[in-house]
Amino acid sequence: MRVLALANQKGGVGKTTTAINLGTALAAIGENVLIVDLDPQGNASTGLGIDRRNRRLSTYDVLIGEEPLAAVLQTTAVPRLTVAPSTLDLLGVELEIAGRKDRAFCLKSALQTLEVEQRNRSDAECFTYVLIDCPPSLNLLTMNAMAASHSVLVPLQCEFFALEGLSQLLSTVDQVKKSLNPRLTVHGIVLTMFDSRNSLAAQVVADVRGFMGEKVYETVIPRNVRISEAPSHGKPVLLYDLKCAGSQAYLKLASEVIQRERVYRAAELGPGEPR
Ligand code: ADP
Ligand code: MG
Repeated sequence: MRVLALANQKGGVGKTTTAINLGTALAAIGENVLIVDLDPQGNASTGLGIDRRNRRLSTYDVLIGEEPLAAVLQTTAVPRLTVAPSTLDLLGVELEIAGRKDRAFCLKSALQTLEVEQRNRSDAECFTYVLIDCPPSLNLLTMNAMAASHSVLVPLQCEFFALEGLSQLLSTVDQVKKSLNPRLTVHGIVLTMFDSRNSLAAQVVADVRGFMGEKVYETVIPRNVRISEAPSHGKPVLLYDLKCAGSQAYLKLASEVIQRERVYRAAELGPGEPR
């Protein structure tokens, strides 16, 4: 089970869209995917067709330790894609867990329990990827996500201020690595909402690649109206319109993520170990 946090303290950069559609694309190519909605807004849950009325249990109950993660999971219209939905209750979770010594590890321990439970299952029933959709803030929820993850995937919108805030995010990842989670790495940076008609966009892509080099995925997600329409139908764009440029880009990103994962995993195991 590989755990990736989708994080960027800016709102509207494509975290939720990427969680939903990268998750769907990974599931489409055979991975067993769990999306953990850690944003009180619950847009990932809504975008995956989980009605608010059907969210009796949510990631809130998991974080405060009232329910195991397994109890809140809901299936989606996408085969092999499961979601742990969120509700607005999450807004209060910081206050509730702030006084606990293990406050940054609530999600991590829930995921560990889930992983242990899965040991008795067949491979087809075990999650291979967990994508955590973070809120637009470097708060305790995001700390929980980073503490529980192998790596962070950063969606970055192709706009003039794209690089602003990235340094802060990267230094937060460094701090988390030092204090909460020594294994944490940056998986990659995905440029989103690229508009080829906007001459500035190409410059932003070049700047970000110049600054972050290989960490930037080759795949760039285009600005695509089908991507923005899909959530109102409670569907990932791949179910809404598989042929559109947005769906094709997320499929490409998924194969790049898997490719990179192989390289990272090999590096973790070290030379001479079985891969
Ligand atoms: P975040 O989770 O970072 O706040 P979202 O994923 O919710 O960002 O995206 C913000 C808005 O932009 C949403 O309305 C979403 O539908 C839209 N959007 C995201 N990616 C694209 C894209 N590639 N093309 C068009 N619209 C997009
Ligand atoms: Mg979001």
